[in-house]
Amino acid sequence: MVDMDRRAALTALGTAAAATAIAQTAQAATRKAPTIGRNLPDITVVGAGAFGAWTALCLRERGAKVTLIDSYGPGNARQTSGDETRQIRAAYGDREIYTRWAMKAFTRWHERQDEFKRRLIYANGVVTPHQKPESVKAQLALFDKLKIPYEMLTGDELAKRWPQGRYDDIDVAMFEPRAGTVKARESIIAASEVFRQKGGTVKLGMAKPGASTGGRITDLALASGERLSTGMAIFACGPWLPTLFPTFMDGFISRRRNEVFYIGSPPGDDRYHVERFPNMYHGDGMAGAGYSLSDVDYGFKVAPSAGASIPMDPDSGERIASNFVLDYALEFVKMRVPGLVGQPVVASRVCTIESSDNGHYIIDTHPEFQNVWIAGGGSGHAFKMGPQTGEYLADRVLGIADPAEEKALFSLASHGRARP
Ligand SMILES: Cc1cc2nc3c(=O)[nH]c(=O)nc-3n(C[C@H](O)[C@H](O)[C@H](O)COP(=O)(O)OP(=O)(O)OC[C@H]3O[C@@H](n4cnc5c(N)ncnc54)[C@H](O)[C@@H]3O)c2cc1C
Repeated sequence: MVDMDRRAALTALGTAAAATAIAQTAQAATRKAPTIGRNLPDITVVGAGAFGAWTALCLRERGAKVTLIDSYGPGNARQTSGDETRQIRAAYGDREIYTRWAMKAFTRWHERQDEFKRRLIYANGVVTPHQKPESVKAQLALFDKLKIPYEMLTGDELAKRWPQGRYDDIDVAMFEPRAGTVKARESIIAASEVFRQKGGTVKLGMAKPGASTGGRITDLALASGERLSTGMAIFACGPWLPTLFPTFMDGFISRRRNEVFYIGSPPGDDRYHVERFPNMYHGDGMAGAGYSLSDVDYGFKVAPSAGASIPMDPDSGERIASNFVLDYALEFVKMRVPGLVGQPVVASRVCTIESSDNGHYIIDTHPEFQNVWIAGGGSGHAFKMGPQTGEYLADRVLGIADPAEEKALFSLASHGRARP
């Protein structure tokens, strides 16, 4: 069905020459509003998170007329992308395809940062100790092959380089210097603003597929009762995908509560900021397990690995952090960054983490409607890819490019039943 749809899209666009022209338009139009391509369908992107906001922008840059609609607005507090920061790194064990995507994403984040004229990415590096030897071996082989810089550092070397951390239980750790931190909510808002400046429409509303004929939808039905005519729809709805499409998404994505805490840096003290300190990933199943993201003028973020197993509805779930998980965050601070002991928790976030059954993204057409796409299943690692995912999805739905490896990996057919 996807093949047929792609062929149909290419035919509608007037063959590969038109596809090349669209790609060139996208490159040339990074700053000004591109003209609307006459042969392109009107596209509605439902969901303004990491998948939807970047995809809407990239589609607009390729000349499509695009509406971006979200129940609560871009960067809202309920979306998985709505936290303050997220981590970006290329380390994916032996999963080469994601490492390659992350490398493209690094480049795109820096390009978008220049274009948007606001700081969105910080290459403060990521330190990863406590890895299984076989994982490290696979990781280093891939980094060597792809010429990605890294260092292996002992606990003593870590202590010399970053004395504000504590490394008693670390023999050796991998340091990825190009990795680091991206602004989360702010970049979604920025991408949506630039999308609007380039001629896109941003709308508040809750949408679902509306009328259909011949295996294609003709409009979207909004909760307000309004109908929104559309030639194509992309549902990039994160943890809401099982709510929208229970018949075929219910077992594919689990939704769990996840809590993170921001510990305040002491006044005027930059030792825990991104300029001075890398992010740390301390694995699971041990004392002080979890990860930290250094302070980007909001607090030192601690995400304990405990407490992520409670199911959560993204609409009705309360966002008040628990003392239970807070205790684990404070234990992390005591073990890993003792200089922050006694500093206040200045903010906390409760997110719904949506995980696909096998950890891979889900990008495919709807089983019944050829002009409806599903994009999500971020599984704790999709934020960093946002600017790259947007390019990929825009090219794919317009029939410009459809790499076989991604197509198979992200297909609905490759997913089974989500973890209970
Ligand atoms: C605690 C935590 C830490 C993470 N850390 C990282 C990390 O370090 N690095 C990384 O790369 N990734 C990380 N992730 C994963 C990443 O944040 C997510 O994969 C990504 O943000 C998901 O984006 P999304 O667009 O799929 O969903 P969302 O951001 O949830 O966006 C979906 C949007 O769809 C809208 N919507 C839903 N239904 C409808 C409807 N019917 N009509 C209109 N709008 C609708 C919602 O309002 C929402 O705004 C982490 C996730 C969590 C929870």
